[in-house]
Amino acid sequence: MTTTKPTSSTRTETGYRPGPDGLLLEVDDLHVEFHTEEGVAHAINGVNFDLRAGETLAILGESGSGKSVTAQAIMGILDMPPARIPKGEIRYCGQNLLTMPEDQRRRTRGPEISMIFQDALSSLNPVFPVGWQIAEMFRKHRGTNKSDAQANAIRLMERVQIPGAKDRVKAYPHQFSGGMRQRIMIAMAIALDPAVLIADEPTTALDVTVQAQIMNLLAELQEERQMGLILITHDLGVVADVADRIAVMYAGRIMERADVYELYAKPAHPYTLGLLESIPRLDQKGQELAAIGGLPPNLLRLPQGCEFHPRCRFAQDVCRADRPELREVAPGRLSACHFAQEVLHRG
Ligand code: SF4
Repeated sequence: MTTTKPTSSTRTETGYRPGPDGLLLEVDDLHVEFHTEEGVAHAINGVNFDLRAGETLAILGESGSGKSVTAQAIMGILDMPPARIPKGEIRYCGQNLLTMPEDQRRRTRGPEISMIFQDALSSLNPVFPVGWQIAEMFRKHRGTNKSDAQANAIRLMERVQIPGAKDRVKAYPHQFSGGMRQRIMIAMAIALDPAVLIADEPTTALDVTVQAQIMNLLAELQEERQMGLILITHDLGVVADVADRIAVMYAGRIMERADVYELYAKPAHPYTLGLLESIPRLDQKGQELAAIGGLPPNLLRLPQGCEFHPRCRFAQDVCRADRPELREVAPGRLSACHFAQEVLHRG
């Protein structure tokens, strides 16, 4: 985990300058909906967070909680329609990406904000050598000549620890293992030295040893380049060692936001508590894991009141009537729960 936070940094090369204390990204009251034949699916319902240079924010939640849609909205790669952003702002270095002309926004993808996708095999082009695909980033965005672009590709492959990079630069994606393909995706994502890197479930398809290697590599690169890293995952275990802060999402809203240590030590939302209780622990070998009962809500028909109430063991009448706002419940702790204090200070 990184602890170094630059107080100021500039990106004069591209013209974007982070705000005070390295502030890069601000997501403000973001709403995203999908217009389907069955009705309007409310995928994101007022999400707020920010990200600074050198910081890792983990966005955590079950599938369908809205974390990947949030990432796609930041990248500007949502299919619109059926998606629509009726409300909210996404500011990068103070400029609202949502109102930026498309050609200007396109130029932010790669050099400013970049993304690693879950499935490297379907994200890499199977008919081009991996080195060519990395080199293309330099040719396309920087006009680098062919031999320099290839040399850069080899350097990046070496940096992401692809053994024998020089000999494998002309190999095709199917000639690499899943872990190596994910490293190639990382090389492509960092090629243009982005200020913000979004990693969407970057280790889901990998075994645990390779998962740990990829997470360590991301943490190293983030510290070395002082990127702001958004790590999207459904797995609390994966982020413990690398995240600075965690935002827990459910039904398109942030239910809890906290420093990673505080959230692990004392969750302030029943959903976070449920996620933590479902992590296998060595000191509880042989005991049954506590899973959160029930299913995530249908985004076409969100329950009245707190979205989590049908699955919540702390639910009271007020929870079925009133939707709790995300509010500060302790210094630096935000929770969207009527009974956050009780959950936080439970025995
Ligand atoms: Fe559970 Fe009520 Fe808190 Fe929602 S508001 S998480 S239902 S206790």
